[in-house]
Amino acid sequence: MSTNTAPASQQAAASDEVREVKRTTCCVVGGGPGGAVLALLLARKGVYVTLLEAHPDFDREFRGDTIHPSVMEIMDELSLAERLLDIRHTELRNFTLQTASGPFTPVDFSRLNTKFPYITMMPQTDFLEFITAEASRYPTFRLVMGARMRELVEEDGVIRGVRYEGADGEKHEVRAILTVGADGRGSRVRRLAGFEPVKTSPPMDVLWFRLPRKESDPEGVIGRFGRGHGAVALDRYDYWQAGYIIPKGTYSELRHAGIEALRQSYAEVVPELADRVRHLEDWRQVSLLSVESSRCPRWYRPGLLLIGDAAHVMSPVGGVGINYAIQDAVVAANVLTEPLKKGQSQLKDLDVRHLAAVQYRRELPTRVIQALQVQIQQRVLAPALASAQPFAPPAFLRLLLRVPFLRALPARIIAFGVWPVHVRR
Ligand SMILES: Cc1cc2nc3c(=O)[nH]c(=O)nc-3n(C[C@H](O)[C@H](O)[C@H](O)COP(=O)(O)OP(=O)(O)OC[C@H]3O[C@@H](n4cnc5c(N)ncnc54)[C@H](O)[C@@H]3O)c2cc1C
Repeated sequence: MSTNTAPASQQAAASDEVREVKRTTCCVVGGGPGGAVLALLLARKGVYVTLLEAHPDFDREFRGDTIHPSVMEIMDELSLAERLLDIRHTELRNFTLQTASGPFTPVDFSRLNTKFPYITMMPQTDFLEFITAEASRYPTFRLVMGARMRELVEEDGVIRGVRYEGADGEKHEVRAILTVGADGRGSRVRRLAGFEPVKTSPPMDVLWFRLPRKESDPEGVIGRFGRGHGAVALDRYDYWQAGYIIPKGTYSELRHAGIEALRQSYAEVVPELADRVRHLEDWRQVSLLSVESSRCPRWYRPGLLLIGDAAHVMSPVGGVGINYAIQDAVVAANVLTEPLKKGQSQLKDLDVRHLAAVQYRRELPTRVIQALQVQIQQRVLAPALASAQPFAPPAFLRLLLRVPFLRALPARIIAFGVWPVHVRR
């Protein structure tokens, strides 16, 4: 474990006065999909849990709108699926790319043996509001919005909670038997705990921007590959969330060429939206997602656990980041609920072996899917991004997808991950 940051005990000594100290059993830092679902699962089992979210609301930067079949099955196990599907959404039953040789469908969810053979496309804001509203029904749940975690509280090598700056600008402390870092790819919890993720750099970056959507447009997702670029457009009802995939490191070149070059290039790849790229007027409308993939060698230390992007950032290939963060949350709740309940009734520390068990169960599925993502990046995406020709699926891929058993594999892996996860009763 690297110790490139000051021990938390020293930070605590240097810190300003704390306005109030609250106690809980589990303090979850970060109200993204992983943290919110974990907080719900613990609260419904009677574990006292405080969820700290830095933003004042859930209406944040675009982070993906996908709810995979495995998450829908988890929602069903919690008797929440029906109500979740009452929220406005679209259903993506396959992913079809327009290629030089016609439409190519590498992923078809409609053949999966599940009640939910599709990706539910729903703004993440709606999903997070739904989950936290559901958690608020339990008296053991506390949500603090606008709570920016600043420091870990450490005593004798054990993490005992966090200090955060509240929306009131004051410093607050939460003491807990377990602190969970679910604070995403730039995790402060991870950094303060001294964990260093091992990073790899996939061969692309993604530019995200919005384009107007018309009533007559198709629903769902548009996916295209061509002439060295890839493009997606995700239906957000009132507008398209447009993604433009570029070879890694070429952003400054593109910027130098000017916004018109981006407009033209996107219009070439997605001709259906060519009539509205003029709405892209300024680089300030464009955000760059520097694509990375990483994994922490260790996800825990006494009193602390990392889940979701804090433990492993997934490449966007297959769009599995949200799915994996929620699966981590379910496994963590399955393993830790009883030890936490024992801890809160007997005022006992959590045995570190329970935390190790969470990493043990989630690390292999993470490694396997990251290895598959590397294969797709190297064998399909990198050649497509390096070529000036229209995209044609590689022969090995077309052959593989002709074999009936293998044809279902990409959809199954994207839908359920490598190791399906279920809520323990
Ligand atoms: C542009 C983009 C598009 C994506 N598209 C998809 C997609 O289509 N499908 C998919 O599956 N995945 C997608 N992903 C990845 C996906 O967003 C993540 O894998 C997923 O959100 C991880 O969930 P999480 O709960 O671990 O972390 P996050 O969703 O990152 O949530 C972390 C939360 O912690 C909060 N936080 C951070 N620091 C602090 C602090 N100090 N104190 C308190 N709170 C804090 C943040 O505000 C945030 O709400 C995308 C990512 C990006 C960036």
